[in-house]
Amino acid sequence: MTLLLLILIPMIVGIWAQSRISTAYSKWSKVPSHSGITGAEAAATVMRNSGIYDIEIVVVPGHLTDHYHPLEKRLALSRENFYGKSLAALGVAAHEAGHAIQDKVGYGPLKFRAALIPVTNIASQLLPFIIFGGLFMGMFGLMKLGIGVYLVLTIFQLITLPVEFDASRRAKVELINSGILTKSEAPGVIDTLNAAGFTYVAAFISSLANLLFFVLMSRRD
Ligand SMILES: [Zn+2]
Repeated sequence: MTLLLLILIPMIVGIWAQSRISTAYSKWSKVPSHSGITGAEAAATVMRNSGIYDIEIVVVPGHLTDHYHPLEKRLALSRENFYGKSLAALGVAAHEAGHAIQDKVGYGPLKFRAALIPVTNIASQLLPFIIFGGLFMGMFGLMKLGIGVYLVLTIFQLITLPVEFDASRRAKVELINSGILTKSEAPGVIDTLNAAGFTYVAAFISSLANLLFFVLMSRRD
């Protein structure tokens, strides 16, 4: 029963989070902002107002593929958010600029998260072997390794939460302070960013459930 819940709960939370972000994004990407500027311009303004001048803003393919790359000093926006003038585009673009601000001020959780990326990548690459060997073939050693791998992934997803919510908080403050957004437009941006934030909560719940799943499985018989 517990094992079943550990599979079902993250699945339901994950589906709900995905439908919430796609609903919020499609709703607010149809609402243009009064400012009439693009996401790329908004990100540039937010960074400039925070004294950041060395970050390149580029377009990347895909839907909601927006990210900030601290090592390469690059802010990548998907086409719809780079050129888009909607509340959703401005929100996402300013959120990525929020990560650039975190980088500039040396925000602790961002540094910790960056330090975890190499070990997290290794853990992710081990996953297929662990799931196949540990779960399906019941190899005890792999089961133990699975606990370690999911522990790493869970810690990574946990430290991602403050990084993401802080970037969204900075985005809201900067968009309003810089005059890009009027107070009446704020709810659209906040709804988009909250929905995006919840996908990270769902990812954390999923990692945690997998961790508990492996712990319970390794204790059986
Ligand atoms: Zn982010």
